[in-house]
Amino acid sequence: LIDKTITVLGSTGSVGTQTLDVVSMTGTKVFGISANSSVGTLEEQIRRFCPVYCAVSDENAARELKTRVADTSVKIIAGSDASSELASLDGCDMVFNSLSGFAGMKPTLAAIDAKKDIALSNKETIVTAGEIVMTRAAEKGVKIIPVDSEHSAIFQCLNGKRADKLILTASGGPFFGQKRDELKKVTAADALRHPTWKMGKKITVDCATLMNKGMEVIEAARLFDMPADKIEVVVHRESIIHSMVEFPDSAVIAQLSQPDMRLCVAYALSYPERAEVPLKRLDFSTLSKLTFAKPDTESFSLLSLAYYALEKGGVCPTVMNAANEIAVDAFLHGKIGFTDIFDIVETVTKSAQNKMSPTLDDIFEADKTARKTAKEAIFTLV
Ligand code: MN
Repeated sequence: LIDKTITVLGSTGSVGTQTLDVVSMTGTKVFGISANSSVGTLEEQIRRFCPVYCAVSDENAARELKTRVADTSVKIIAGSDASSELASLDGCDMVFNSLSGFAGMKPTLAAIDAKKDIALSNKETIVTAGEIVMTRAAEKGVKIIPVDSEHSAIFQCLNGKRADKLILTASGGPFFGQKRDELKKVTAADALRHPTWKMGKKITVDCATLMNKGMEVIEAARLFDMPADKIEVVVHRESIIHSMVEFPDSAVIAQLSQPDMRLCVAYALSYPERAEVPLKRLDFSTLSKLTFAKPDTESFSLLSLAYYALEKGGVCPTVMNAANEIAVDAFLHGKIGFTDIFDIVETVTKSAQNKMSPTLDDIFEADKTARKTAKEAIFTLV
């Protein structure tokens, strides 16, 4: 049992529902939940977990939810800043940020300012404003515990020590082994079929392009304060080793388990202890082999682009992330082809004006401009 009270932002999404699953396994209390508009799921969660607050960013959805749960004591917070408002309220020990995309940034900062420890699975926050977020968290004495499986693995392997090198594993996505030409005919349905992990749509497409791995390189650089040349990506199709660290004495420590986000959630919840969680165990008698390969950065060029953005610094990663969010959305809506994602994100990232040591305003500005440029690029394509 874990005697903590948490708030779950993005509770109806993939990581959010898995977080609540761990909550029910560990007897953790829920102070608040939040979502954009999924009224049905929110109602179920309110009845099951009895949170004090529920934040809904869509005003109409908030109104409907209020009527549906009028017989309960839950307080509804409505509006576009609802998640941030909820994140800053007293009454919880920890905020789990499972929001998707750039929308997760303001709530992360709100939680830091309210001195709440954060379990972070919203990687876009760290990719776009990693330096600001990490500095502010350090100033406020706030712990940021990664929930992304690779970063949770590294966090577990490091155990407070400093490594020489971080080795991020990548499943390679559903199109591993294919060349850029073959990728041209990939449809949204193909891209949404991930071999090992069960996730939301946006991140599943990011896994297929390897943009996700690229963003994770930047995320690792920020979370663990490591330079680009000390972060390596290795394709590991089985998704059993979730990442590794190499220490100065040449020892490599890896974290292995079934691919299940709930372990990362449980570790963030119980850290620095380990909780007893009834998750499926590894069975080495059926696990015949673990394989490793170099990623094909020529066909999957967004991985190299992320290294480029990390080395450029400034608002370059922000621009890359924004262009990617727009391109992936257009792909999911059938407006552009799979390889157009690569072209659009590369063009927008490399043509945007960079700004070093950006303020938060600079980051929001760069994000806005990059979205506009990406939309224009899509418009000229269709
Ligand atoms: Mn990951």
